[in-house]
Amino acid sequence: MPDRTPRQLIADLLRQGPHSAADLARRLGMPMKRVISDLEHVRRSVRERERWAVRAAECLSCGFVFRERERIDAPSRCPECRSRDIRDARFEIQVT
Ligand SMILES: [Zn+2]
Repeated sequence: MPDRTPRQLIADLLRQGPHSAADLARRLGMPMKRVISDLEHVRRSVRERERWAVRAAECLSCGFVFRERERIDAPSRCPECRSRDIRDARFEIQVT
C-alpha cells in the first residue's frame, strides 16, 4: 500500500494492537515529534464504531500510573518517586 499517508500507517498499526509513540517511530522510521503530532490527529479522527484506547504510562520503580495524563508525549519523571524508569503509554484503536 504505497499510497498510504503516515497518519494512515499509524492508524493501521494501532488497529492491529497497542503501540507506544516510540514503537511507531521505530516501525515507521519517523521522528518522535512527527509521530506525536500525527497521533494527535489520529486520535481525533477515529471512525464511528471505533474507540481510542490508552494504556497509561506507568512508573516501573514505584508503580505510579499516569492515569490523568491526556497528552501523547511521554512523562520524563515519576512525580512520586522521581524515577525516570517509565513505561511509555501505549495507544490502540479498538473496534466497538
Ligand atoms: Zn515512581
